[in-house]
Amino acid sequence: MPISLHNSLTRRTEPFVPLDPNRVTMYLCGPTVYNYVHIGNARGPVVFDVLAKLLRRHYPNVVYARNITDVDDKINAAALEQGVGIEAITGKFTDAYREDMARLGIAPPDVEPCATAHIGPIIAMIERLIADGHAYAAEGHVLFDVGSFPAYGRLSGRDTEELIAGARVEVAPYKKSPGDFVLWKPSTPELPGWDSPWGRGRPGWHIECSAMAEKHLGETIDIHAGGNDLLFPHHENEIAQSTCAHGGKTFARQWLHNGMLTFDGRKMSKSLGNVLQLHEMLKHHPAEALRLRLLSGHYRQPLDWSDAAIAQSVSTLDGWYRVLRDLADVPVDSAPLPVPEAIEAALCDDLNTPQALAELAVLADAARVQGTPEAKAALLGGGALLGLLQQDPEAWFKRVDGSAVDAARVEALIEQRQAARAARDFARADAIRAELATMGVAIEDGPQGTRWSVAKA
Ligand SMILES: [Zn+2]
Repeated sequence: MPISLHNSLTRRTEPFVPLDPNRVTMYLCGPTVYNYVHIGNARGPVVFDVLAKLLRRHYPNVVYARNITDVDDKINAAALEQGVGIEAITGKFTDAYREDMARLGIAPPDVEPCATAHIGPIIAMIERLIADGHAYAAEGHVLFDVGSFPAYGRLSGRDTEELIAGARVEVAPYKKSPGDFVLWKPSTPELPGWDSPWGRGRPGWHIECSAMAEKHLGETIDIHAGGNDLLFPHHENEIAQSTCAHGGKTFARQWLHNGMLTFDGRKMSKSLGNVLQLHEMLKHHPAEALRLRLLSGHYRQPLDWSDAAIAQSVSTLDGWYRVLRDLADVPVDSAPLPVPEAIEAALCDDLNTPQALAELAVLADAARVQGTPEAKAALLGGGALLGLLQQDPEAWFKRVDGSAVDAARVEALIEQRQAARAARDFARADAIRAELATMGVAIEDGPQGTRWSVAKA
């Protein structure tokens, strides 16, 4: 089944044809590790995790790189403010990022390069750009000469005039043209810096992605992905740097951009006070429900985020896990799980996750009605490609979500209730049920005994 993907560069949906089917390469711009990321920053990693899983089904060798930006003015500011070295900040938030991504069921990328470990390749690329007349040094800075690259603005659809007129372009005396952007900048003694042909300094943000993509994936990569907030200037600048450093070779053959999150219909922003940290949300909501919600809209569209939407995702997963729990005794040969065609077809169609989730709901219904090993395997296999439904159904229902349910205490109370019922002490049994309810635990008596679940997230 061929994969087609929407290419932001051509603004068309195109068949995906890798340069080398034996080594498919994908790069996703990762976080700047100066704080916990917000929930919107998780959308790209979740969506492109599904794409990586899909590509791995089609190609024997996929190399997926997601970088860590560990040198940046925001990191320097955080380190200064807290009176610590930048490593204390970047180490802490890199660990938190990896941990939070893992909880969302995101497989680690094949390569996770960080900028500070690539200063050599960054300097080498800047030297090449200078030698070829695409960059110039001025007052300790090195700038990319936007005028030297006629295709500048093709990805974002902005022309140079528009760019220069844009208020966001920093005007500085050392720039030949206001649109020129920084490849290297000088560091004062208290700031992190590395020796370079232009003095002690540090790289600009854009150059690190170009240098790390080259080092780990090659001069031309198959897919470059990121949020559409990075389209300009970050990705535009990556294209300019990489294309010019590689004698005009195509940098990324396909550009994928995910839409942003809105919160109850509004943009998420610090000034509105509605920034939701993923790390914090994971304390209060099941990670899998967050993942499901992030996949519930088409990746190119904006996605609205609300408490009601999370509750809806929890209830959807309740339904699906209930089917799997009821089929707990139905044996399934787990390796490898079959991937139902309808799920695969939806994902091959420009990663249509809402369609894939609709198909998963159909499979859940079929499994509930049929109760066969095949139907259960199809549900699990479809879920696996989306990174859903892979935990023990009992674990799903007995999760704690920060509400700190003491499972041992619950089990003990259920046993006491059984004993009370056996002794026909129904008042005592009802009192125990009420006590469980105040703990947020719901119980259900059935042919397989008493089951319990955490009633609310
Ligand atoms: Zn990048």
